[in-house]
Amino acid sequence: MADKKTALVISAHAADFVWRCGGAIALHQEKGYEVTVACLSFGERGESAKLWKQEGMTLERVKAARKEEAENAAAALGVNDIRFLDLGDYPLKLDEEAKFRMVDIIREVQPKWMMSHSKWDPYNTDHMYTTQFALECRMIAQAWGHNPGQKVLGAPQLYLFEPHQTEQMEWKPNVFLDITPVWDKKRAAIECMQGQEHLWNFYTNVAENRGNHFRRNSGGQAGGRDCRYAEGFQAIFPQTVDELA
Ligand SMILES: [Zn+2]
Repeated sequence: MADKKTALVISAHAADFVWRCGGAIALHQEKGYEVTVACLSFGERGESAKLWKQEGMTLERVKAARKEEAENAAAALGVNDIRFLDLGDYPLKLDEEAKFRMVDIIREVQPKWMMSHSKWDPYNTDHMYTTQFALECRMIAQAWGHNPGQKVLGAPQLYLFEPHQTEQMEWKPNVFLDITPVWDKKRAAIECMQGQEHLWNFYTNVAENRGNHFRRNSGGQAGGRDCRYAEGFQAIFPQTVDELA
């Protein structure tokens, strides 16, 4: 139990985790991690345009459809556990009750690392407020005075996954993860997102481009590692090491 390797992804909307870190999820599941995905909302109002164009659509039907897609995608990635907090979207309602619910999840999961969105997203404030929310909940989960007696959180890294419209987001990757071994799982998860078919090839191209950055930063022509698909992340906190590499 003490050695259980766990990770937590905090996704503003139901599909975000698929495009942005589906490879990291599938890869770590294969490495023996138990990855929990917390979807703060279903993206029911803001990221479901294709469904809303259908005649007679209702909010509940959109939420149900988005939930099913996310569950199918999570299954394709081998996700250990997916939680839906149903906090509403556009805008997300990140009140104190929501924070304490998330802190409970963080303390229960005790993640070795966490993931969320970029710190800045002028196109989609739900995303950047989710990052603030993740940082705040991480901080509360570390506080010995919050629900004394519970196991407090250590200091898991918070990785910010790649946003849409990357260049506008003040997001700068400092970690590249080779996801080539699990690319087929990520693509299968992407194809579960029936409502956003226009993004399928876009995110395949992103993964190929990040694969190129992986090759360049692992040595390039001078002995770099081969890599066809990768994901980029921005780590927030310093690493603590015994030896520089
Ligand atoms: Zn989103």
